[in-house]
Amino acid sequence: MLAGAGRIRVRVEGIVQGVGFRPFVHHLAAEYRLAGFVGNDTEGVFAEVEGEAAAMAGFVADLSRRAPTLAQVERVSTEVVPPTGQRGFGIVASVTGVGRATLISPDTATCPDCLAELSDAADRRHGYPLTNCTNCGPRFTIVTDVPYDRRATTMAEFPLCADCAAEYADPQDRRFHAEPVCCPACGPTLRLVDADGAPVPGDPVEAAARWLRDGRIVAVKGLGGYHLATRADDEQAVSALRAGKRREEKPFAVMAGDLGAARVLVDVPPAAVPVLTGARRPVVLLPRRADAPVAASVAPDNRDLGVMLPYAPLHHLLLGRLGTPIVLTSGNTSDEPIAHRDDDARERLAHIADGFLVHDRRIHVRTDDSVVRVFRGRELPVRRSRGYVPAPVTVPWPFDRPVLACGAELKNTFCVAKGRRAFVSHHIGDLENYETLCAFTDGIEHFSRLFDVRPEIVAHDLHPEYLSTKYALRRADVELVGVQHHHAHIASCLADNGDPGPVIGVALDGLGFGSDGTLWGGELLVADLRGFDRVGHLGAVPMPGGVAAVREPWRMAVAYLDEIYGDAVPDLAVVRRHERRWSTVVALTRSGTNSPRTSSAGRLFDAVSAILGLRDRVTYEGQAAIALEQRARLDERGGYRVEAVGPVPLVDVGRGLVRCVVDDLLADVDPGRIAARFHHGLADAVVRAAEAVRESTGLTSVALSGGVFQNVLLLDRVVCGLETKGFRVLVHSRVPPNDGGVCLGQAVVAAARHRADPAA
Ligand SMILES: [Zn+2]
Ligand SMILES: [Zn+2]
Repeated sequence: MLAGAGRIRVRVEGIVQGVGFRPFVHHLAAEYRLAGFVGNDTEGVFAEVEGEAAAMAGFVADLSRRAPTLAQVERVSTEVVPPTGQRGFGIVASVTGVGRATLISPDTATCPDCLAELSDAADRRHGYPLTNCTNCGPRFTIVTDVPYDRRATTMAEFPLCADCAAEYADPQDRRFHAEPVCCPACGPTLRLVDADGAPVPGDPVEAAARWLRDGRIVAVKGLGGYHLATRADDEQAVSALRAGKRREEKPFAVMAGDLGAARVLVDVPPAAVPVLTGARRPVVLLPRRADAPVAASVAPDNRDLGVMLPYAPLHHLLLGRLGTPIVLTSGNTSDEPIAHRDDDARERLAHIADGFLVHDRRIHVRTDDSVVRVFRGRELPVRRSRGYVPAPVTVPWPFDRPVLACGAELKNTFCVAKGRRAFVSHHIGDLENYETLCAFTDGIEHFSRLFDVRPEIVAHDLHPEYLSTKYALRRADVELVGVQHHHAHIASCLADNGDPGPVIGVALDGLGFGSDGTLWGGELLVADLRGFDRVGHLGAVPMPGGVAAVREPWRMAVAYLDEIYGDAVPDLAVVRRHERRWSTVVALTRSGTNSPRTSSAGRLFDAVSAILGLRDRVTYEGQAAIALEQRARLDERGGYRVEAVGPVPLVDVGRGLVRCVVDDLLADVDPGRIAARFHHGLADAVVRAAEAVRESTGLTSVALSGGVFQNVLLLDRVVCGLETKGFRVLVHSRVPPNDGGVCLGQAVVAAARHRADPAA
């Protein structure tokens, strides 16, 4: 391609800003003895190099082959230009402009080099809680604009000292052009203040560790927001934290100092090690050890524990000083968004925290900790946020026109998409209060600007009352595409796997608005990206009292038992527990008043959970279903066999399973065994229903999605069952199966419907 000496212009696209790419190019040019320059612009990294053809070829090949750890090179293109006789190699100023296509790296856990400095008494950053370099540190949460440059971050207000400036300018240094670089002399400072805002004397980390050791609660400013911390083994402290947060039972995450400390708390299978110790540092849900020194109220009624390792230098310092794991939960009360501004945190958390461990680096975008499970050696995202966002989810099919997908109502995320990239947002939360809604609308504006997506197509859920739907309908000058909730779930699983379908889609979920205006949630679809047929579903039952039935699963027990037994409901504990209100709710069920019918799998889990006496009421979404999974005995091999096919596949499954549950309960079978048999029976029914659909359609791939598939006991049984029967099975590994993944599905469906060439 290149003969003799010459000059080429190079363009690199992908996550190449804020990850040490320019220094890397500088090194590479020196290695190949090439002259030229490199810089950032709105498209990514540009460079020109001049020298021997073979050297330039090696240089270009190495750009992706040897790229820095955090870089994701998507494309390298070159063009020959006339040589200029330039000598030396330089980094040129960033070019700003109107078109923005650069990618911003997610926030990244402290790297080994920075950790070594942190504990090196001779290093000038010894013990400095905000140290970072090109390979680690804050990114997305501090970026205010593009191109990624110090002046477009919240570090803009901290001028570099002479030492930092020298490192920043030295191509041989690890901090060469590390935008958030700082040190104790020039960077943000850490302080510990008490609940009234008065400074606490002495070393802030030392004092905070002492407070934690004494069982106090400390608010700690993290990467994406404030956390509340307290000793994980102190029941009194954890209970006080629960009371303060008004969070009755939802499990807290625990941060352990290192992998060894984590192993004291949970069993860490080999596949979980890279997830736990990797640069993204999510909370990983793992089986809790029987002897784990963790207070009971950290994760009540849960045999799993969410564990994460330190990801900011401050965490390393604090855990190192304390020497014992801490609860580290989002700094908020009940369902509010996590506090991320200092004044707001002070106001909202002062009644809970005894003190605040804070610094003056502003957080621009609040980002919650991500949560994953590990399924068959791969991540199964439960919440995709800090550490993952805003890395795009790439798909094999282009978004011909820019798309905004508004997502669902609960666990909301949105995405903007163009090219082959979908930028799925951080976890916004439940769109039920003003603050969350602002985070949603502000987030859309921020993403549209950062990734230069001016949406021409706006995709939304069919539910008319979702605030995300209402937002979409208010957008002017765009084409609106309504996407059915469970079609979006299945499409998100297709996009997650880069498979266009058609597939047999199994969407087991809480509630979603159906095409017929009823509430769906236990759906068997034949679907591709464009559309779907509903080929089966769980039999619909009333939800007595509507949303009240979501909060009170025993009402779903009423609905199922009434459907099955009518006036002859057997003598069950659940009936006795609710004796006074039972007949009223039966009447409500039968009248249909405020009792919409639903085919939801989540509500079926609710009913069984209540019948088994596990949960009559819930304090957070999915709690009854989680209790059922957590209670299922793993040594139980039996499963209920119910009618799964019939004229409409799955329609008799719910009632059949509940009947089996009741029979076993009346025969005094252990509820843990019943819970397991229920899971196995449902999985078996799903497999047989899929076989029936394969019979009639010839489709051999199955996609599994919907919030119920966060249940790995069910997921494992369904996947194993389907594979045994020769199906190819698609599960989630990049976006959550729950409503946090819905926006991706909406986006690919909307794009597919607008694609000129159906075969593309
Ligand atoms: Zn580093
Ligand atoms: Zn400095």
